[in-house]
Amino acid sequence: MTDAPALESHGRCPVCEQEVVFASADSWLRDGFKCLTCGSVPRERAMMRVLAQLAPHWRELALHESSGCSVSSNRLREQCRGYVATQYDPATPWGEIHPHGYRSEDLEAQTFADETFDIVVTQDVFEHLFAPDRAISEIARTLKPGGFHICTVPIVRKAAPSVRRARRRRDGSVDRKSVV
Ligand SMILES: [Zn+2]
Repeated sequence: MTDAPALESHGRCPVCEQEVVFASADSWLRDGFKCLTCGSVPRERAMMRVLAQLAPHWRELALHESSGCSVSSNRLREQCRGYVATQYDPATPWGEIHPHGYRSEDLEAQTFADETFDIVVTQDVFEHLFAPDRAISEIARTLKPGGFHICTVPIVRKAAPSVRRARRRRDGSVDRKSVV
């Protein structure tokens, strides 16, 4: 038995923007291959790299992140002047700000005006939605002309078809057993 990491490399981290060491003690690199300086995982580094490539002036823009709770989310909150964080929180009226600082929003039926944001970011959110088509439509509605959406979704079993694990009943409750 050894404590040697499963993988280790050096490079520039797009999240903390420093020369760092990346290492993972686990073979599940998606969640384990972290920047040893800021703690970011590969998904976050990919998102921030794409953001910087597509919008080098992202710090000056209006950016909506849904359900952010990560190292990269903190980076965006600290540095992006127009950062707006939302969470799906049915206990808080839609459109109101929770004491923890996020705005309560249903990604599938947002209260934002048309053409509000330059960028929308969703990290591992879409696999939890009941109606991803409505969320895409709402994101398109709230983006300014020329704006864009950066989306990450975990891929499980590669080419195997997606399986619905739950659906919403007419009364709004969740049926977790249905497989459609
Ligand atoms: Zn880092």
